[in-house]
Amino acid sequence: MRLIFLGPPGVGKGTQAKRVCGHLGIIHLSTGDILRAEMAADSEIGQKAKSFIDDGELVPDDVLLGIMNNRLKKDDAQKGYLLDGFPRTIPQAEGLDNIMKNLSHTLDGAISLTADEDELVQRLINRGLESDRSDDTPEVIRQRQKVYWNQTAPLLEYYAQKNLLKSVDGLGDIPEITERILGVLN
Ligand code: ADP
Repeated sequence: MRLIFLGPPGVGKGTQAKRVCGHLGIIHLSTGDILRAEMAADSEIGQKAKSFIDDGELVPDDVLLGIMNNRLKKDDAQKGYLLDGFPRTIPQAEGLDNIMKNLSHTLDGAISLTADEDELVQRLINRGLESDRSDDTPEVIRQRQKVYWNQTAPLLEYYAQKNLLKSVDGLGDIPEITERILGVLN
């Protein structure tokens, strides 16, 4: 099974992605986690990504497409994956189509997790108090939400047209939402 997760910052993509991957026996690939690891290692990619991430902006498409092109070729990705945080723009979605085509992979679904925006800002502010993520401050959170609606939300239509979009209500308790997601996949 090959899936992508869509949804605004704070909707719980990471939490649900891990649970769904556990159930389905596929790997979880989070571009946010990959980029944070690159920043922690102070690699060339990490250095390039940092200023964008700290401003709540997207890292350029060519950087992400390079990362994912390499990652999806690896052995552990051949049995299925769930992409969390990628694609985030139309050019990334088109690039992903090409990458998958070259690997003879087909996409089984694009899951859109939905929730009320004010609830999300509050959740992220709370997470920022507990985590050391440099981008969970109120100002950067609002910027990330704006970027989502401008640059990523058009992907909902992109995948709806391909008949791959499955929307799931992201409000409720964690196990209940996981059940909803597994339900739309059946
Ligand atoms: P969020 O909780 O906002 O969904 P992520 O952990 O997925 O955050 O990503 C954190 C930051 O990493 C984003 O705000 C963005 O700057 C960068 N990033 C992650 N994935 C991508 C991507 N596909 N394209 C561009 N930038 C990305």
